[in-house]
Amino acid sequence: MGNILVIGEHQDGKVKKVTQELVSKAAELAGQLGSEVDVVLVGHGLQNPGELGQFGAKKVYTVDTPKLEKYNTEGYVKVISDLCNEVKPSILLGTASTLGRDLLPRLSARLNVGLASDCTDLKTDGGKLVATRPIYSGKAFVDVKFEGDLQMASARPNSFVAKSSGSGSAEIVSKDIDPGTLRAVIKEIVKGKSDKADLTEAARIVSGGRAMKNAENFKILQELADVIGATVGASRAAVDSGYAGHDMQVGQTGKVVNPNLYIACGISGAIQHLAGMRTSKVIVAINKDPEAPIFTKADYGIVGDLFQIVPLLTAEFKKALSE
Ligand code: FAD
Repeated sequence: MGNILVIGEHQDGKVKKVTQELVSKAAELAGQLGSEVDVVLVGHGLQNPGELGQFGAKKVYTVDTPKLEKYNTEGYVKVISDLCNEVKPSILLGTASTLGRDLLPRLSARLNVGLASDCTDLKTDGGKLVATRPIYSGKAFVDVKFEGDLQMASARPNSFVAKSSGSGSAEIVSKDIDPGTLRAVIKEIVKGKSDKADLTEAARIVSGGRAMKNAENFKILQELADVIGATVGASRAAVDSGYAGHDMQVGQTGKVVNPNLYIACGISGAIQHLAGMRTSKVIVAINKDPEAPIFTKADYGIVGDLFQIVPLLTAEFKKALSE
């Protein structure tokens, strides 16, 4: 039995929360399988990769090269596939983040193994990995098992809890692997206006629909989001109407999100919207129509005018959080 290898992600060299979550889950699986968790981090100027030891990693393979300072599909595929061919893990895990959705399908093709993508749970059965993934726009779940020596899956952000022991450091194994010829490179990354987490990784989201009426009104959602540390999202109707940017769209043709809290404001709950957010842990819906389909999926429903309710929620959260 080989080890579990987790493909780590970082932002400007700092290990991301999604990787801490995945390593924690991998450590649980490794305990059941009698194997160990290793991580590969690719980039330049990696900061304190050994901290992943606190989440259960034994070794962190670092490929630190200026050539891969910015993410590069070809370069990442080359170095991670070369590393896999050398260390021969039994299980290769990544995150279904924006980066993971770009990298993992290509990596699976390079390694010639199947990929269970966008999983919401990972477990073991008879010494093998079992990956649970949503199908039919999240209306059903399927358990996937693998044939062959390498089992590969990606996990949706926020599916697992990052469990830190508070101490311990992983062994750092520095690898000098050539990323090869990079035929396309990212020259510059222009940061968005917001410093909030990307929707796909956000732990809390406040989304607005067609009922917002215009872009200006999204301010009231932003105010609520600022108080509770959430990212603002939108339905496609709001995006198509020009009230919100495309990067804010949640749903089948937008982003798939998996927050702990999703507050849907003036969103009817069309199947294509639900496809992007139905695995949220707690769903709160605010809608003036008591028959709106979103209420069938919501854990908490507030029937009323969002323009009255959202400012009240903001004020109450502000009060409660300052106490
Ligand atoms: P509506 O359905 O118009 O709902 C507005 C809601 O606001 C209503 O329920 C109304 O009761 C409520 N409301 C009105 N005023 C107030 C108020 N003052 N206070 C409180 N509530 C109020 N949609 C997505 O969101 N994401 C996708 O990725 C997506 N992909 C699609 C892909 C395809 C191929 C297709 C065909 C459609 C897709 N759609 C997607 C569109 C989807 O079908 C719906 O049209 C869309 O989600 C509706 O957005 P909405 O809920 O904001 O608007």
